[in-house]
Amino acid sequence: MPRPYKTRWIYGAFEADYFKPRGRPMADLEEIRLEADELEALRLADLEDLYQDAAAEKMGISRQTFGNILKRAHQKVADALIGGKAIRMNPAASGRQWCRRCGRPWAGTNLEPGREECPECSVEEKEARHGHGHRG
Ligand SMILES: [Zn+2]
Repeated sequence: MPRPYKTRWIYGAFEADYFKPRGRPMADLEEIRLEADELEALRLADLEDLYQDAAAEKMGISRQTFGNILKRAHQKVADALIGGKAIRMNPAASGRQWCRRCGRPWAGTNLEPGREECPECSVEEKEARHGHGHRG
């Protein structure tokens, strides 16, 4: 039975959707697909240098799941670089949105429709609501 798929938050804007080795015709190339969550894991862990638990929290998944995604991403990239394969990057399934609150662009892999705030703003609001117990 497939496990229920949890939405992953993607904040990175990615500048390209395809890489291929120079001077080799497409027909001869093997292609590797990097999913949006794998690309985001690389961005957070390797480029922004976040700790895995911080990065996992940002994406809305467990640290273990993040570790698995990151490991898969590293293997795919290494396979492409060393084996001379092309990399196709899949965009996030739901497309990009802009948070109505902070204006930050973000996307989800399996987004509920009509969501207007990015996950970080939602978390802040929840903390604000629960953090200050006394009202009025
Ligand atoms: Zn926001």
